[in-house]
Amino acid sequence: MKSLVFAANWKMNQAPADAEAFMRTFTSQYSRQQQKRVLFFPPAVSLHVVVAAVRQRGDLETGVQNIHWEDKGAFTGEISATLARAAGARHVLVGHSERRHVFGESDEATGKKVAAAARAGLTPMICVGETLEEREAGETLAVVLRQLRAAVAGLEAAAVATLMVAYEPVWAIGTGMTATPQDAAEVHAALRKELIAITGERGRAVPILYGGSVNRSNVDALVSVEDVDGVLVGGASLDAEGWLAIVRS
Ligand code: PEP
Repeated sequence: MKSLVFAANWKMNQAPADAEAFMRTFTSQYSRQQQKRVLFFPPAVSLHVVVAAVRQRGDLETGVQNIHWEDKGAFTGEISATLARAAGARHVLVGHSERRHVFGESDEATGKKVAAAARAGLTPMICVGETLEEREAGETLAVVLRQLRAAVAGLEAAAVATLMVAYEPVWAIGTGMTATPQDAAEVHAALRKELIAITGERGRAVPILYGGSVNRSNVDALVSVEDVDGVLVGGASLDAEGWLAIVRS
């Protein structure tokens, strides 16, 4: 049985009281399952609630949705990797499509954030994915490989072996459209090949998650694909019962 990672990206939802109610329901109904890790990416203002809820549970982990690449300084409104780590985060999403396409985050900025995360002891989950236009132009593999290479450009191979990757086609995020298992298989295989080229055999153990309109009806088919080591879920992770159903799949 392969190990799976289930990651919930709550985006700009779940105030502290909502996060508390969610985690109460979730932790009371979810018992540890062999070979499964469950990660939560709450908004920064609710991080402390999730940190407290997962403290006694080795199978549940938490992280932040974004960091700045500097460790500290005059960057009003930003959170550094060191601050996030000190507040209890262990992971960070980097290069999420909403960061790239809504906030104009470049490949270079993504690389700086990955390096900052590694310095601070946060595990980056590097998100890569093509737009519909890029897919239709046959550029999918070139785009995701370019994004992956840029994201890890500042890291030693040993550090690359410790991070996670999420393939999230931009056209599938929050749209109800999902990549077919065949589409996912092709991209995940290319990402795996690249990770092995960078890190050697250790690249086989780097989790590569799929994200983009995952729900309880399509999760089984997606996680059965070779090289799909879990899912990164937005909308369908917002309700505790729905998330429990996905994580138990
Ligand atoms: C995401 O935000 O990473 C995501 C995959 O969102 P959704 O599941 O809503 O498509």
